[in-house]
Amino acid sequence: MSHTIAPVLGEATVQELREAVRGEIVTPGEDGYAEACRIWNGAHDDRRPALVVRCTGAADVIAAVGFARSNGLTIAVRGGGHSVAGFSTCDDGIVIDLSPMAGVRVDPAALRATVGGGAVWADVDHETQAHGLATTGGLVSSTGVAGFTLGGGIGWTMRKFGLACDNLAAADVVTADGRLVHASETENGDLLWGLRGGGGNFGIVTQFEFDLHQLGPVIYAGPIFYPAAAAHDLLRAFRDWVGDAPDQITALVNLTTAPPLPVIPEAWHGKKVAAFIAACTGPVEAGEALVRAFRDVAEPIADLLGPMPYHVIQTLIDPLWGKGIHSYFKATNLARLDDELADRLCETHLAAPGPQCEIHVHQMGGAVGRVADGATAFAERSMPFVLNAVTGWHDPGEGTAHREWARTVIAAASQASTGRAYVNFLGDTDAARTSYSDETYAQLVSLKNDYDPTNVFRLNQNIEPATVAS
Ligand code: FAD
Repeated sequence: MSHTIAPVLGEATVQELREAVRGEIVTPGEDGYAEACRIWNGAHDDRRPALVVRCTGAADVIAAVGFARSNGLTIAVRGGGHSVAGFSTCDDGIVIDLSPMAGVRVDPAALRATVGGGAVWADVDHETQAHGLATTGGLVSSTGVAGFTLGGGIGWTMRKFGLACDNLAAADVVTADGRLVHASETENGDLLWGLRGGGGNFGIVTQFEFDLHQLGPVIYAGPIFYPAAAAHDLLRAFRDWVGDAPDQITALVNLTTAPPLPVIPEAWHGKKVAAFIAACTGPVEAGEALVRAFRDVAEPIADLLGPMPYHVIQTLIDPLWGKGIHSYFKATNLARLDDELADRLCETHLAAPGPQCEIHVHQMGGAVGRVADGATAFAERSMPFVLNAVTGWHDPGEGTAHREWARTVIAAASQASTGRAYVNFLGDTDAARTSYSDETYAQLVSLKNDYDPTNVFRLNQNIEPATVAS
C-alpha cells in the first residue's frame, strides 16, 4: 500500500535529536525504516511515524520526550511491540522504542531482578532460570515485559506468585515533563499503584524491579488435547474443578484448531479441538494428582501434560504467534461459567472463520484474587475466569470475519460477564473507561492529572485527565 508521510520535521530539526541521544534514529527514506516501523500485529503495520528513536537509556528517553513535546509530535512508546490494539506505532509522530534497553540483572540472594524497559519475557526467563528463579511472565515469550506488566500480566504462575504487576516492586519512570522518578512502596507509592494495571498512562518505564521465586528447572506442565466433541464436558469439568484447585496450579481451557505439530496425530491437524493446559509451581511429583480429573474427561488426542522444563512451557506456542500475523483480541471477565455459556462457546468455536481463532478461558483466583480489588490499578480481581477471544490471520481480506467472530464470542458471554475486562486483551482502543470500576477509574484520573495533565501519553487504553490543559 502506498502511504503519504506528512512532512512534519525538517532534517535540521531531527539533527538536534540525533546529537542529543546515543541511540539510532530512523526516518522515512532511510535504510531500515520499514523494519523500524514493524510491530507484532500486522493489522496495524501500515502506520508511518515521522521518526523512530531506539533509546539506549533513560537519558535518550528524556531527550525523546522533550523533543516530541517541543515539536508537537504524537508519542508512541514501544516495549516489546506486542500491543494488540497497535498502540506502539503511529502516523507522523515519534516512536520511542526501548528495545535496545533489554538488559536483565538478577540478584539471587535478594530474589530480585532489574529489567530494562524494552526487554521481552524470553530475556527475563533466560536470566532468572539460570538461578532456578522466575516471576510471572507471558504465555508467548516474545511479548514485552513493559506493556504486559503495566496492564496486569496474566501468566502460568500467577495463581501462586500473583500477576506480573503484583511482582513489580519498583520502577524508574520518565514522566511527561521529562523527570526521571523512582516508584516503590516507599517513594511515589501512588505512581507504583498506577503502574500495577493502569498501563502506559503515567510515563515511560525505563527499568523495572521484580520479585523472584524459586521455580524449575522442571515443572509439571503442558496441554492435553481432546476432540471438539468433548469441549462441553471439558468446560464443565474445568468449572467444577477450579473451586478446589490449590494455588500451585494455573490452568486454561483453549477451544482451538489442532496445529500441524508432530506431537499431534496427523489425522487431527487442522481439525477443531479443545485443550486443557496447565502449569504447576509445586513439586513435579505432586502434579499428576492435581490434574487427574482431566484424564477422564474424554479419550485425549494427545496428552503432553507432564514434567517439562519451565522454559519449554514458556515458549511452547511461540511459533504459532510470530511477528507480522494480523490479530484482534476481545475479552471479558466472567462471574461464572454455566452450562448455557459453555454451549454457546462450543457452538461459536465450531463456527470460527480460520485456524487461528481461539477461545481461552483462563482460571483466575489464587494469589490474584487475594489482593483486594482497588489495592492496585488492575481492573478487577475477584472473578473466577477471564474469557479471551484470540484471532490471527494472514490475508488482510480476512480481518472483518475474524473481528466479527471475536465479538460474537464475547457477546455470547454477556449474561455471565462481570462487565469489566483486562485491558491488555483488547484489540479495540478507547476501552479504559468500561474496563475499570468507577472507583479505580476515578483514582486513575486523579493520578493522570498529577503525572500527565496534558495527556502526552495517550496511545494506550487511555485514562483522560480531568481537564486537558493546553
Ligand atoms: P507494546 O506494544 O510495546 O506496548 C503496549 C502498550 O504499553 C502501549 O500503550 C505502550 O505505550 C505501553 N508501553 C510499552 N512499553 C512501555 C514502557 N517501557 N513504559 C511505559 N509504557 C510502555 N497478556 C497477558 O497478560 N498474558 C499473556 O499470556 C499474553 N500473551 C500475549 C501473546 C501475544 C502473542 C500477544 C500479542 C499479546 C499477549 N498478551 C498477553 C497481551 C500483552 O500483555 C499486551 O499486548 C502488552 O501490551 C504487550 O506488551 P509490549 O511491551 O510488547 O507492548
